[in-house]
Amino acid sequence: MPSPTRRVPSLRRLEQSTVKAVRTRLLRWGRANQRRYPWRDQQATPYEVAIAEVLLRRTTATAAARLFPAFVSEFPDWAALDKASEKRIAKRLQPVGLSRQRARDLRRLAHMVVRDYGGTLPTALPELLKLPGLGPYSARAVLSFAQGRRAAAVDSNVSRVLGRLFWPSLKQAPPTKLQATADSLVAPRSHRSFNFALLDLSASVCRYDRPRCEKCPLRGNCRYFQQTSRKAAANGGTGRRVPLCHDA
Ligand code: SF4
Repeated sequence: MPSPTRRVPSLRRLEQSTVKAVRTRLLRWGRANQRRYPWRDQQATPYEVAIAEVLLRRTTATAAARLFPAFVSEFPDWAALDKASEKRIAKRLQPVGLSRQRARDLRRLAHMVVRDYGGTLPTALPELLKLPGLGPYSARAVLSFAQGRRAAAVDSNVSRVLGRLFWPSLKQAPPTKLQATADSLVAPRSHRSFNFALLDLSASVCRYDRPRCEKCPLRGNCRYFQQTSRKAAANGGTGRRVPLCHDA
């Protein structure tokens, strides 16, 4: 199946040895540490992945996972969602909050999928991006998680990991460069596992406030780790890393 990304602009700028090392280490770590959610099931449909991405916005994965089975059982596809009233959808969404807003967004999305695509999400990135409520991250999540297409799903947490790995500060890593880097890195065949591993690493190891570099499989390739280690050594080798601008 062809890649939705025709060019990988930053591939030339990343050494092939780095690409290979990051993929191998991340996939190995993911096999041992991958979190299980219903929308990550091999059988998850594009509809289910899109619904999960809407539920996950500003909600913990645990809360979204609790609601998800009941939601997709009551509204099993885009047609069911399109036919349902906003009030009924909002009622089902109450446990995860922002229920009226999410219900409105979901109905708009469902209406367009039914009207313009016969009730099936398109499989091309530009078309997915035209749909209301599917941004660059969630469109690529649908492609990779449920449509078997190589795509790198980059949310704000994955951006943080990539920024720390390759840039001196996040300000120097605008979204287009981060996406291009992720496009270069994502494993061609194991793109689902690669995306899941990167998301899980950002949640449990490369955390926003205190990255747990000592547990990270990517520290050998990480600019942040090298810089903070050097600073700690210069400060008397206390073993404590000194925060950099990525910590802000
Ligand atoms: S070594 Fe530290 S900063 Fe670098 S990716 Fe791993 S956890 Fe994040």
